[in-house]
Amino acid sequence: KEKNITYLFIAHDLGLVDLMCHQVAVMYLGNVVEWLEHGRIAEQCKHPYTKALMGAVFKVDFKPGEKIEPLEGEIPSPLDLPPGCPFASRCEHCTEHCVQVKPELKEVEHGHWVACHMFD
Ligand code: SF4
Repeated sequence: KEKNITYLFIAHDLGLVDLMCHQVAVMYLGNVVEWLEHGRIAEQCKHPYTKALMGAVFKVDFKPGEKIEPLEGEIPSPLDLPPGCPFASRCEHCTEHCVQVKPELKEVEHGHWVACHMFD
């Protein structure tokens, strides 16, 4: 605010992003799939991709041998994106509607936007 500067900080580590930023936009294949204020991600994120990223954040008390849930499925080519949800091929909640129709980014609560048919 003092210098009137805006920074854009890009990373896959959502824990770090949450610490560094005031606003968090989660992108998948060039699409913003969730947008919310920092400090709300761990408790309030809704999009399956955001949840998968949060599940990949290493905890300080991580124990060797503790199970890590990998994100399964194929990533579509960014040059030939499918017509529906860009995350459909990797989402465990995917339906035929998701495959056919791309979800719009919608405000699900004040300052919190999600692009997912589960929250239409
Ligand atoms: S729109 Fe469907 S495929 Fe896409 S993230 Fe939501 S539930 Fe999964």
